[in-house]
Amino acid sequence: ALVDVDQVLEGLNKVQREAVTSEAEVLQILAPPGSGKTRTLTSRVAWMLANGMNPSNIIVATFTNKASKEMKERISKMIGGGLENRLIIGTFHSIATRYLRKYGHLIGLPGAFGIADTSDSSAIITRIIKKNKYSTMDGNDAGNIKSRISNLKSKMQSVDEYIATQKKSNHNDEFSKIYTQYEKELKNSNLLDFDDLLLRCLDLLRAHPLCVSNIEAVLIDEFQDTNLVQFDLMCLFASRRDRITIVGDPDQSIYGFRSAEIGNLKAMQEVYPHTIVVNLEENYRSSAAILTCSLEVIQQDKARPAKGITPTHELGISPVLRELPSSDAEARWIAQEVLRLRALTGNLFTFDDIAILVRSGSLAREIETQMTQKRIPYRLLAGIRFFERAEVKTVLDYLRVVFDPNNNEALLRILNTPRRGLGDKAFRELSDAAGKKDTSIWNIVQKAARGDIKVVGISNAGITGLSKFVKVIRETQNAFQSEQSQDSEVIGKIIQTLLEKIDYKIYVGEKLQGEFEDRWQHVEEFIAQAVDFCGNVMTGFDEADLPDTEAEGNPVEESALITALGKFLATAALASVKEGPEAAGSGDGSGVLTISTIHNAKGLEWPIVFIPGCYNGSIPHSRADDHDEERRLLYVAMTRAQVLLYLSYPSKLWDRKSGSTRRLMATRGPDITLEKILSFSNIVSRECPTREMVQATINAAGLLILEDRVESDDPISQIGGYSKGWDNYGSQPQNSSGRGFQRSSSGGFSTYSS
Ligand code: ATP
Ligand code: MG
Repeated sequence: ALVDVDQVLEGLNKVQREAVTSEAEVLQILAPPGSGKTRTLTSRVAWMLANGMNPSNIIVATFTNKASKEMKERISKMIGGGLENRLIIGTFHSIATRYLRKYGHLIGLPGAFGIADTSDSSAIITRIIKKNKYSTMDGNDAGNIKSRISNLKSKMQSVDEYIATQKKSNHNDEFSKIYTQYEKELKNSNLLDFDDLLLRCLDLLRAHPLCVSNIEAVLIDEFQDTNLVQFDLMCLFASRRDRITIVGDPDQSIYGFRSAEIGNLKAMQEVYPHTIVVNLEENYRSSAAILTCSLEVIQQDKARPAKGITPTHELGISPVLRELPSSDAEARWIAQEVLRLRALTGNLFTFDDIAILVRSGSLAREIETQMTQKRIPYRLLAGIRFFERAEVKTVLDYLRVVFDPNNNEALLRILNTPRRGLGDKAFRELSDAAGKKDTSIWNIVQKAARGDIKVVGISNAGITGLSKFVKVIRETQNAFQSEQSQDSEVIGKIIQTLLEKIDYKIYVGEKLQGEFEDRWQHVEEFIAQAVDFCGNVMTGFDEADLPDTEAEGNPVEESALITALGKFLATAALASVKEGPEAAGSGDGSGVLTISTIHNAKGLEWPIVFIPGCYNGSIPHSRADDHDEERRLLYVAMTRAQVLLYLSYPSKLWDRKSGSTRRLMATRGPDITLEKILSFSNIVSRECPTREMVQATINAAGLLILEDRVESDDPISQIGGYSKGWDNYGSQPQNSSGRGFQRSSSGGFSTYSS
C-alpha cells in the first residue's frame, strides 16, 4: 500500500519523530504522564506498517482491551486499509489466549479450554476450604488465598516448587493443600486462570519457538507494570528478530502489589545491552496548574531522580480540594458539580468528558446511586462489572457449558438455576461421584438423568429436572454446530431460544427480585454484545486468526459459530477483570460519564476528573505497606485530568467494624500530603470554579482541548473576554499565544524548572 508517511509523523515533536522512525532494534521510551508515549508507540506501529511490515508479524501489548481498541482506531486513521485488524494486538492475557487456542495442542492443552474468571477461582477455593473444614481465620479467605496463589504464579513458582520450599522449612500449612487442590480442580474443569494463560503460553513458546517465527517486532505500552512472566513472554515473542519497543514511566508503577517488577526496565537493558533509551519531556495533556499539583505529589518521593517535565498548556483553572461531611454528601456533591459544570458552559462539556476515579469499588457504588438519581448516564470501568451481574453471569455460564460441558464451575452454578429441585446434598453427591469415577460432573449428570446410575439425595423431581437440563444443553450445542449461516444474528436467536426453554424471564422476575426492567435490559444488552462481537470475529474485523507459522497448525475443526462463541467467552472472561461494556448513553449526544478505579484508568485522559476519597486510610490505604506506590497511585489519578481536577474527601466516615464514626483527614501519609499542596494557595482552591473562570479557560489559547467545540453561536462564547475570576486565584492567564509556562510572581511554581 502506498502510505503517506507524513501523515504518520504529523503533529509529533522532534524527539517523538525520532523515536517513531528510530532504527534502533531495542528501544525504551521512558517519560512522564501525558508526554505522548502511547501516541509515539502507536505512530511507530503505523510507521512500521507504512514501511511495508506485515501487520500479522507485529505483536502489540496494551494494558487494557480499551487501549488496544483506541490504538487500532488511531492506526486506522493514519494508515487505513484495514491493516490494523490484522495486528496481533491486545493485553498480554488476550494475546496469550490466542496463541494457546491455536497452538495449545502442542503442549497437550485441549483447544476448547475455558478461562476461570474471578468468581470461578473464588468458588473453587471456597469449596475447598469448606470441604476440608479449613479455618478461615488468619486471612484464609478465598480472596486472600487467590492473591497469594496469583503472586506465586507471577513469580513462576509452581505448586511443587512452593511445597518443596515449605518442606525445607518444615512448614506444612493448609495453604499448600489448598493450592494443590485448586490446581487439580482447574484441570478437571478444563480451565486456566488468568495467571495460567501467561504461564502456559510461556511453556508453549519455550518448547515451540516456531509458533512466533513470523514475528518481526514487539511493542509494549505501560511496561513499568509488567511482571516477570510478561517479561519472559516479551523476550520469547521477540526471539526471532529481537526488535522491541517499550514505553513506560517508573513514576506510574502501581501494580507492585500484584508482583509487577519495576526491575524489568533494568533487566531489559541487561538482556539487550544495545537498548537505546529516549526521554520525552513535554506534557501535552494537562493544564499547567494540574501538572504542578501532580508534581508536588510525586516529588515528595525523595528517592526519585529529578526529571524534566514542561507543560505546553496555560496555567488554567486551579484544581479543587474539597471536604464534605460524609461520603454520601461527597457523592451527591460530585453529581451536582457535574450538572452545574454542564449548565454553566451551555452543555459544552459532555458526560464523555468526565471521569470519577475511585480507589475501591465500594466507593463506586455510592457514586453510582447518585448518578442514577440525578439521571446522569455512566459506564463502569470497574465496580460491579457487567459480566458479573447475576442475571448476565448465568447466561454466560450456560454458554460456557454449551461450549464445554466439562467446565465444572459453570455447570455447578447453573445446574439448579433456575431451580430444578436439587438440594445441597444432591450437589455434593454429584461432585463426589464425579471425583470417585474421575470423570466430569457433566458425565455423571447425564448418567443420572438417564437413570443409568442412582445418585442418593436426588428426588424424582430432581431427575426430571436434570434430564430437561441435559436436553436443553444438547439441543443448544446442536444448534451451534449445525448452523451453516455465516450471520452472527443466529447466535442471538440461539441464545434467546435457550433462555425461553429454561423460562429465564420468569426466573429473573421472581428470583432476582426488584428492578426487573433493568435486569432484563442487561440480559438483552448481553445478547446484543454477543451478536456484535461474533459478527466482528466472523468478518475478520476483530481478532483475526493468528497467521500460520512454521509450527504445526490447529487440528481442531469447528463450526464458524462455535469458534466465534469461544472467542467471545474468552473476551468476556478477560473483560470482567477490567472493563464493562460501553453504556448506551441517552442518545442525545450528551455522552456517558466514566466511573473507574484509578488502577484501570491508567493511560487514559479526560477533560474533567474527580478523585473522591482522598483521605487517610483510602490513599494511602490503611492496609498498604508500600507508601511509595500509594503516592504514585494518586499521581496517576491526578495526571489523568486535562482541564479540571477535583480532589475531595469526607470529614467523617461510619466505621462498620467499630460501629462508630471516624474523623478523617485529607490524604496525608508520612510522604503524601495534600494539605502541603494547599499551601500553594494559588494552585489549589477550596472553591469550585465560577462560570467566568471556565470561560476564561476556554478562551485561553493555551488550552486547546476544547477549542474546536466552541462555535460562535454557542452561548458560552458570547460571554467574551477574561473575567475577574482569575484575580482571586493569584494569577492572570499568561500570554495568550505562547505555549510555554510562565512563572507566577508568588514563586509557587518554582518546582517547574527542570
Ligand atoms: P500516560 O503516561 O498517562 O499513558 P502518555 O505519555 O502515554 O501518557 P499520550 O496519552 O500518548 O501520553 O498523550 C497524551 C495527550 O497528549 C494525548 O491527547 C495526545 O494526543 C497528546 N499529544 C501527544 N503528543 C503530542 C504532540 N506532539 N502535540 C500535541 N499533542 C500531543
Ligand atoms: Mg500512555
